[in-house]
Amino acid sequence: MDVSYPPEAETYREKVQAFLAEHLPTNWKGIGALGHEEADRFATEWRATLYENGYLAVSWPKEYGGQALSPLEQVILAEEFTRAGVPAGIGNDVFGIQMVGNTIIAWGTEEQKKHFLPRILSGEDKWCQGYSEPNAGSDLANLGCKAELDGDEWVVNGQKIWTSAGHLADWIFVLTRTDPSATKHKGITFLLVPMRQPGVEVRPIRMISGESEFNEVFFTDAKAPKENVIGEVNGGWAVAMTLLGYERGEAAAVLPIRFRTELDRLVELARDYAKTDDPAIRQRLAWCYSKVEIMRYLGMRALTAFLKGGHPGPEASISKVFWSEYHHKSTELAMDIMGMHALIPTGRPPASAFQTDDPGAPNDSASWVGTFLNARAGTIYAGTSQIQKNIIGEMVLGLPKEPRADGGTWSESSKR
Ligand SMILES: Cc1cc2nc3c(=O)[nH]c(=O)nc-3n(C[C@H](O)[C@H](O)[C@H](O)COP(=O)(O)OP(=O)(O)OC[C@H]3O[C@@H](n4cnc5c(N)ncnc54)[C@H](O)[C@@H]3O)c2cc1C
Repeated sequence: MDVSYPPEAETYREKVQAFLAEHLPTNWKGIGALGHEEADRFATEWRATLYENGYLAVSWPKEYGGQALSPLEQVILAEEFTRAGVPAGIGNDVFGIQMVGNTIIAWGTEEQKKHFLPRILSGEDKWCQGYSEPNAGSDLANLGCKAELDGDEWVVNGQKIWTSAGHLADWIFVLTRTDPSATKHKGITFLLVPMRQPGVEVRPIRMISGESEFNEVFFTDAKAPKENVIGEVNGGWAVAMTLLGYERGEAAAVLPIRFRTELDRLVELARDYAKTDDPAIRQRLAWCYSKVEIMRYLGMRALTAFLKGGHPGPEASISKVFWSEYHHKSTELAMDIMGMHALIPTGRPPASAFQTDDPGAPNDSASWVGTFLNARAGTIYAGTSQIQKNIIGEMVLGLPKEPRADGGTWSESSKR
């Protein structure tokens, strides 16, 4: 494996570094070093700067407002943004740009592309993801939220759950059941539904950390225009899988940087609490170091495949299960280092429930306690660890498939 980047990559890196130097304040330490309100303000202004300078949706074709960057340039950009501690967008952008935007580019009609993509980029439309339901999480194809065509409109009834950032969204992409008499993977339609209407109710769910970043979403005769289907009516499963496949190759490059930065902070924490002479703590820190190094090599392997034009397939599950299980243990170590202090957290809690605290975050007990609580969710969202292990067993190692209970129409199988 050759771990060095070609010369043209370094030229592009210099361009990104020059952009960052020009637009970031002097003495910039990372968004984690700002207070919450200041960080929110910075993130909004920074998104506008990225938009004006063509640094949003960089993988999209130029005709739809992107930069058509090569995979290598995307990786360099993501690395430099992570090192500088600046976000690549705001919270809902992952659903708008990365998920539904890419899916519209892959499956949408020309009218859908022309209508939705510029509004996503400008920030006029914020999106969220309506996949999971109380009876459809790991078994996503069991979903029962119904859509029926009535003249020129779809009428949607049912419930979604765990809808991240749903309270901030203008639109939701929803997997709906449009033919209950088909088998469960068939009869699903991928529908774009406006959130700001009387038939859509968003109820926040309070998380273990005390925050409310996700929600329940209830549809009661909610309406969506007939033409808001992406792909074929009853052919939504293939569209849904395309969307889930937009795992970015740059994640492989970014995760080891984020977790390495967090590990450096963990070692500092051990120093602050005078625990670096404790042999048990030292051994656990060394364990963390070895895991982050393995993550780096796993990242390089995924990155090599991505740069060769491959899409992260089932192997992406190895990285997901690895970092999320590691994060449980490394944040537990932070709790053990702080001891009783972890029971009365002080200072600045993390601004987001996603992975590590932001780069530049101070070593406050509230930062670590918040990250410890958030890390519990890492082994659940984007597919639980058990499901990742099933995928690795069945699709990477070729082990026999586990028995499935379903079969027959969705109406029959959902009653079992
Ligand atoms: C922080 C967070 C944000 C999220 N954001 C969104 C969002 O924006 N939009 C959205 O649609 N969803 C979202 N989700 C939902 C997420 O995708 C689901 O929680 C996840 O797919 C698991 O589904 P479930 O919660 O229904 O658990 P279940 O599927 O009910 O699983 C319960 C337990 O059973 C295990 N299990 C289930 N099936 C098997 C099997 N076949 N073999 C072995 N073990 C099994 C699971 O691993 C788990 O431990 C979010 C979840 C979290 C935690």
